[in-house]
Amino acid sequence: MQVAIYTHAACLAHDTGPDHAERPARLLAVTEALREAFPDTIDWREAPSASRGDLLRVHAPGLLHAVLETKPLQRVMLDADTALSPGSAEAALRAAGAAVAAVDAVLTGSAMRAFCAVRPPGHHATTDTAMGFCLFNNVAVAAAHAIAMHGLERVAIADFDVHHGNGTQAIFEHDPRVLFASSHQSPLYPGGGLANERGVGNILNAPLPPYAGGEAFRAAWTDTLLPALDGFCPQLLLVSAGFDAHRRDPLAQLQLEAGDYAWLTARLRSIADRHARGRLVSTLEGGYDLQALRECTVAHVGALLAR
Ligand SMILES: [Zn+2]
Repeated sequence: MQVAIYTHAACLAHDTGPDHAERPARLLAVTEALREAFPDTIDWREAPSASRGDLLRVHAPGLLHAVLETKPLQRVMLDADTALSPGSAEAALRAAGAAVAAVDAVLTGSAMRAFCAVRPPGHHATTDTAMGFCLFNNVAVAAAHAIAMHGLERVAIADFDVHHGNGTQAIFEHDPRVLFASSHQSPLYPGGGLANERGVGNILNAPLPPYAGGEAFRAAWTDTLLPALDGFCPQLLLVSAGFDAHRRDPLAQLQLEAGDYAWLTARLRSIADRHARGRLVSTLEGGYDLQALRECTVAHVGALLAR
């Protein structure tokens, strides 16, 4: 099997509370849609837990303590929209562990590409702060693991979630071994993500106005982000795959269609093929309309599966 999907039932036990957009039904929608669309072609794998060492490459001990050792008896809020429930520590460990295991799989040849169907999402979590529904920064943990344990010198992260991946940018903005390329709606939570935020030349932001639509989204990737990724010659391509830029999504207004995700995924795959021997690991970030999430996940994974 060329595409491995990492997931774990523990990710359903992260209880964000009634009426929260980032809810367990999201993950059920994703895994059900993939099972229905690709009954015979997906290699399902159980996500292991990330180790403390994996997390400490990008996170401060204080954040590990807050997420893993608080052990709340009932749900508590870490900020206005980020919850910690009795099941959250295990979910967060499995979500980050999925990304680490997926990196190991593609770098050791047990899979060509991988998708991590997990929650909580990760790209807003900074070194020391859980925020924006995110506890640990799954994609950042994966990138740091690839560098530390596999000796890679160039890892690229493509982030097409409708929100800016502020946590990922902050973690790597001084590290030229990681290129971070992001399209996102602006203005929108969490703010920032402006084009003039360049890190050490390794950060590329393409902010898009509300109602920009698929044409502007494709132009941003074609004109700016894809050429930068290509020029970086990544040895591994990681993807922060949020599907909240879809026109049905209740949290943003970028107005994409599922076909836009298939289009971009095919191009990201080409970059991985050209520079990284195909090695691509994608991890689920946002996406809050269940029907859109189903369609977009199938479009994304379908493009990863296509021959
Ligand atoms: Zn998002």
